[in-house]
Amino acid sequence: MLRKVLFFSLIFILSACSSTDEVKRTLTDTESAVLSRLDIDQVHETILELTKEPRVAGTESESNAAAFLRTQLEQYGYEVDEKTFTLDGSTEAKNKSQNLIVTKKPTSDLPSTDDIIIIGAHYDSVVHSPGASDNASGTAVLLEVARMLKDTITSKEIRIIFFGSEEAGLAGSENYVSEMSTDDIERTIAMFNLDMVGSADAGPLTMFTVDGLPNTATNTGNIANENLFGKSLPVKSSDQSDHYPFYNAGIDAVVFTHYPLEKAYHSANDTIDKLSKERVENIVLIISMSILELTATKSE
Ligand SMILES: [Zn+2]
Repeated sequence: MLRKVLFFSLIFILSACSSTDEVKRTLTDTESAVLSRLDIDQVHETILELTKEPRVAGTESESNAAAFLRTQLEQYGYEVDEKTFTLDGSTEAKNKSQNLIVTKKPTSDLPSTDDIIIIGAHYDSVVHSPGASDNASGTAVLLEVARMLKDTITSKEIRIIFFGSEEAGLAGSENYVSEMSTDDIERTIAMFNLDMVGSADAGPLTMFTVDGLPNTATNTGNIANENLFGKSLPVKSSDQSDHYPFYNAGIDAVVFTHYPLEKAYHSANDTIDKLSKERVENIVLIISMSILELTATKSE
């Protein structure tokens, strides 16, 4: 999450926990199979590994984190497309950063569409911070969702993107969006971004869009949350993370964040002991369910 002016205006508070009725529904076989793969200890191990040192944009430690993520993704059986880019005005070491992109194509024998779903999280941190909440939490959740979905039959293309250098002016996501073709942009129906999703000391899980309005991504997130937990999530306004360049390209994008932010934000105190396993686990479930809501076949 960027510093700048945080959450500049809280324009709309839409459907904030308006539903008190339990509207959880029975999971489909596919949903049960995918959700049962969640291994919270593995997520915890990922966060431990990532928080061994700060992962500052453009430094060797950031590329070490990328190498770790790449190895994990390859172990799960994915091909990883690593895109390197140069940082403007960076005062840090090597001035290069990288995005890791995994593409899960739709399963061919299903009635597939041309639609693309993007899920993303930034893996860099600010200087002097282990960045457990910001954003080893979102990174580890994304990695786990990738693992859980690996062999799932899905009807749309899913792109899983680990952004470098979010803390250097959203450099990774800006770079990625700048290289998307018009066709790719038109085909992308939703972008889900994860940033600061595990702090025990932060406020409730919140969905932020740039204009504060609901869109395909927030509507899907709410369906998933209602199905799992019987309530909806608040939608508020912020441009302070990697969903912003996607919004500017006209894509329905959202960032999930626990808000108000924790006191340890952007400090040396952003450590793994301040995360809530339950919060991390819940966001893995919500994102997995959201992706299945958009991409699983309804035929079962
Ligand atoms: Zn941040």
